[in-house]
Amino acid sequence: MSLKTPRTTVKRLPKRARHDFETIASILDAGFLCHLGLVVDGQPFVIPTAFGREDRHVYVHGSAVSRTLKHLGDGHPACLTVTLLDGLVLARSGFHSSMNYRSVVILGHATPVTGPEKTHALEVISEHILPGRWAEIRGPSSKELNATAVLKLPVSEASAKIRTGPPADDEEDYALPVWAGVVPMALQAGSPQPDERLTAGVPVPAYLTRRPS
Ligand SMILES: Cc1cc2nc3c(=O)[nH]c(=O)nc-3n(C[C@H](O)[C@H](O)[C@H](O)COP(=O)(O)OP(=O)(O)OC[C@H]3O[C@@H](n4cnc5c(N)ncnc54)[C@H](O)[C@@H]3O)c2cc1C
Repeated sequence: MSLKTPRTTVKRLPKRARHDFETIASILDAGFLCHLGLVVDGQPFVIPTAFGREDRHVYVHGSAVSRTLKHLGDGHPACLTVTLLDGLVLARSGFHSSMNYRSVVILGHATPVTGPEKTHALEVISEHILPGRWAEIRGPSSKELNATAVLKLPVSEASAKIRTGPPADDEEDYALPVWAGVVPMALQAGSPQPDERLTAGVPVPAYLTRRPS
């Protein structure tokens, strides 16, 4: 099913656009953070935060007094973006220098999550970041749940944009003695650093040493 609407139709370089759910979900699943866009009193704000996808919706969470979550939970329009930087594209001119990337823009209205779904949503966010960890950690208390707001945003109106490949220089520039090509970029986890109060004998969990697929 296409998630294309007039508002999510990519006009600049539409050959890089994708609107199928599978592509959009794959980019969301590879992302560790999103940016939430909202307009308050005419002023746009773009706020970075964690998220988790399940089926055709995305959960975000935060403090129950978060302006962002309260505003979006009141039904104001939301924009959620996820960006994966895959490479620096070094052309022979500044004009054609670029980046390789996969990005998603989702438009819509978020709704507050309450009741048992709230704990489930927190699990989805946790599992999105580190699959396997939710089963090990202490679950949320009712006090913590009350202090936490969760929103659910449908993935129903969205676009992806993907750039891959080498630079595309002007023909006459290919003869210039300037290094050109792609520098691959990827987010990489470092070695886990144990907390100084770690209980003796607790091993590093397998999910921290697995390589991302
Ligand atoms: C890492 C990275 C670096 C970039 N660097 C630049 C740069 O330096 N200069 C530049 O002009 N552009 C850059 N882009 C592309 C930029 O995101 C926009 O796509 C582009 O600027 C066109 O903007 P527009 O407002 O004309 O989009 P339009 O094509 O008018 O946007 C219409 C609709 O297309 C969709 N859309 C647009 N852009 C994206 C996107 N990136 N991902 C998913 N959906 C999208 C949205 O649904 C939007 O509502 C970069 C993108 C990424 C991810």
